[in-house]
Amino acid sequence: MLTGEEYKASLLDGRRVYFEGRRITDQAEEPAFVAPLEAIAQGYDKYYSGEDGAVNPMLTAPRSAEELRDRIPSLMELDLALNVTYQSLMTLIVARTRLGDESPELVDRIAAYVDEARQRDIRIVECITDAKGSRSVSPSGQDDPDAYLRVVDRRPDGVVIRGAKLHISAASLAHDLLIMPTKKMKPGEEQWAIACAVPINAPGVKIVNTTFDPTDRERRDYPVSCRLSMPDSFVVLEDVFVPYERVFLDGQAQHAAVFAHSLGLWERLGGTSFMVQQADELVGLATLIAEANGLAKVSHVREKIDDMMIHATMLRAGLEAALLHAHATSDGYYYPDELYTNATKYQGASQFNLMVRHLHDIAGGSVLTAPSMADFDNPETAEAVEKYMATSSTINGEYRARLFHAIRDLTADAYGGWHAVTNLQSGGGLFAQRLVTRKHYDMDRALSHARNVAGLGDGTP
Ligand SMILES: Cc1cc2nc3c(=O)[nH]c(=O)nc-3n(C[C@H](O)[C@H](O)[C@H](O)COP(=O)(O)OP(=O)(O)OC[C@H]3O[C@@H](n4cnc5c(N)ncnc54)[C@H](O)[C@@H]3O)c2cc1C
Repeated sequence: MLTGEEYKASLLDGRRVYFEGRRITDQAEEPAFVAPLEAIAQGYDKYYSGEDGAVNPMLTAPRSAEELRDRIPSLMELDLALNVTYQSLMTLIVARTRLGDESPELVDRIAAYVDEARQRDIRIVECITDAKGSRSVSPSGQDDPDAYLRVVDRRPDGVVIRGAKLHISAASLAHDLLIMPTKKMKPGEEQWAIACAVPINAPGVKIVNTTFDPTDRERRDYPVSCRLSMPDSFVVLEDVFVPYERVFLDGQAQHAAVFAHSLGLWERLGGTSFMVQQADELVGLATLIAEANGLAKVSHVREKIDDMMIHATMLRAGLEAALLHAHATSDGYYYPDELYTNATKYQGASQFNLMVRHLHDIAGGSVLTAPSMADFDNPETAEAVEKYMATSSTINGEYRARLFHAIRDLTADAYGGWHAVTNLQSGGGLFAQRLVTRKHYDMDRALSHARNVAGLGDGTP
């Protein structure tokens, strides 16, 4: 296994990382990347063991529904790179069993890669979302055939791929890209039916980053994002060679969607678990700021917080149901129920803005205009900002300002905006969750109830 320091050193491998128009050779020297780099390094140190053959315990697949459930609190504590590595490996484990018997060599390669990734203690990012060109046109009909990542050449020992994967979380800080087709492919679209693992320093890979990191701002005014910042990346693959032992799908168009479905499951479970925690955070912040504003007993404020509590409880119930109704793969690994996971993720994402609206409505304009914590240090302003931010002898100004900064950072600034969009888009947009719900919902049961209530028996129209 790697220590945090060994992990940091492992990133100095010649990778081509870009940020705001510049190439970065050492991410530890780039202010916007320091917090995420340190968070991932701490994740390494937390699980490090020097024993021979040790692997990170968080990267083993659950063997029972209870184990799957027990993992959730620890998963919430993981840094994002370790979390997406877990999701990537679980995706491969589920996909392996869904590929069927016709491609045993792919199944064997996946098994070997999963073992090796654990042994090498690498971090893997999920690369599914293509550039996609015109959204209404399939890969083979695009003006630019590279709009979906594809195989452009074949050699005796491997394939050459070209394309881009967009929005990839934490890519520049990981070791491998897990490339997967973003959707199902038709016969004739074999060149786009490619899944493989690619080292981030492979020739032809470029990572162009964006981040919501509050670089150069007063860190205390950004208490959440300065801790949780993580770059997202535009990953370009310009004629990258991939040896066959790292190729997990190679032209089997009929299986192209297996990876997206398997990933969606783990990605949305992660997203749903996060939303459950986030919903509780919003309830807590609304309650604290209502108390701090002297409004905790006012009926319209209480009703809004009641709505938020009901929302948080329903999300938790959906997550519990997804875990309670977990299913096993043919080799005995457990994964969450797709219907409950997707319906809950949809509910959390679609209602998120309403819950944030309640919080902003309760909190007031200081969400945006509370003085900086640095103004509480400045002798010229300290007394006044303390005096007028305080609301009573028991609620001091600094305490209330800290609450406002947390609310703004979490819901109304760069990180808040990132969240609003990410809740909708991560794991596919709302439409993706609707599709999965439509597929798994028990429509026969609904129709039977409808016929009964209408007194139609099982008669046909
Ligand atoms: C912060 C962030 C981090 C992310 N991290 C990752 C990551 O680590 N790895 C990864 O692979 N992806 C990641 N994603 C990508 C995410 O999964 C996509 O944003 C999402 O799948 C939507 O794709 P898109 O952004 O290209 O939007 P679009 O596909 O353009 O979708 C926009 C809207 O158009 C609709 N739409 C699109 N095509 C069609 C169609 N043919 N018919 C009908 N409606 C259509 C969609 O339903 C949606 O409502 C991340 C996204 C964000 C915002």
